[in-house]
Amino acid sequence: MADLRIEENVPLAGYSTFRCGGPARYFAEPSDGDEVSRLFKWAEDKGIEVFVLGNGSNCLISDNGFDGLVIRIARNMSELKSEESGDGRVKITCGAGLPFARFGNYCTELSLTGAEFACGIPGSCGGAVFMNAGAYDGETKDFIDGVTYWDGESIRYIKGPECDFGYRKSLFEKLNSEGKKAVILGFDAVLSKGDKTEISSLVEDLRKRRTASQPLDVPSAGSTFKRPEGFYAAKLIEEAGLKGFAIDDSGAQVSPKHAGFIVNNGGRANASDVMRLIDYVVEKVFENSGVRLEKEVRLVGYFGG
Ligand SMILES: Cc1cc2nc3c(=O)[nH]c(=O)nc-3n(C[C@H](O)[C@H](O)[C@H](O)COP(=O)(O)OP(=O)(O)OC[C@H]3O[C@@H](n4cnc5c(N)ncnc54)[C@H](O)[C@@H]3O)c2cc1C
Repeated sequence: MADLRIEENVPLAGYSTFRCGGPARYFAEPSDGDEVSRLFKWAEDKGIEVFVLGNGSNCLISDNGFDGLVIRIARNMSELKSEESGDGRVKITCGAGLPFARFGNYCTELSLTGAEFACGIPGSCGGAVFMNAGAYDGETKDFIDGVTYWDGESIRYIKGPECDFGYRKSLFEKLNSEGKKAVILGFDAVLSKGDKTEISSLVEDLRKRRTASQPLDVPSAGSTFKRPEGFYAAKLIEEAGLKGFAIDDSGAQVSPKHAGFIVNNGGRANASDVMRLIDYVVEKVFENSGVRLEKEVRLVGYFGG
């Protein structure tokens, strides 16, 4: 397409916080819903699949890469603005490509409370809506007023309650799992004014708690597994004797700092090394506790089986 840049054979490891994975056959970063729609049409005409990537902080990309078109929603779609909502609260409008932490920091700058947890999450605003990202008793759904998305035919706007949010899931995740198209383009959030000093000190407190408990200096995709109902994944992994465990010296390891994170030491592990360790942990935890862990991390491309 003349005015839309589509690159070929683009390495994806740098677009994933796991720092592994092969290339995308085609890769593009659209600027709006119209471009998203045109890219899907282009892929359809070519008969290839599409994967929508945000900041890649919850994805494990296959070593074979993705044999289709990766549409990355990033800085080209990172609008950020605010307006009084009329009831003393403030409406923030963001593009899906804006870093979620930037949204959190903006709320802090405006003395808005409720998004303090967002400051520590390394995803995009679109990825946060898709996953209903959350931490320290806060969830994305708590402040979402409405979401703009492309549904395969047109651009739609739906209100928060229609987004069907649940623990690390949303309407968009559901549509995606059913093979339907749903590309998040942005959201409106409504938050209340609070005390700036209290908000800033909560942000700082959460930052310290994260730094103390999570391996933030080593590549990972955060919590590898979902929290099983009634349990904590990290505790089950520890009880199975796997904290700090590595199958070999590939670089893939259960973090010695937080057993819920699988890390890629030095970025030298392949996706298949990480995947082997994930499968091993699932089996050992099941043997030890009878609980089958489910991946929170999303797989991109072909992993066999
Ligand atoms: C160090 C670290 C700490 C983390 N801590 C937390 C935490 O505390 N809480 C938490 O919930 N998560 C956490 N995560 C995981 C991750 O940051 C979140 O899941 C985040 O919301 C993913 O956003 P993303 O843009 O990176 O999505 P990606 O990883 O790029 O994609 C995730 C999924 O969302 C889909 N997607 C992304 N953008 C769009 C879009 N615009 N339209 C449609 N689909 C889209 C993708 O197709 C994919 O299926 C952490 C990760 C790391 C590395």
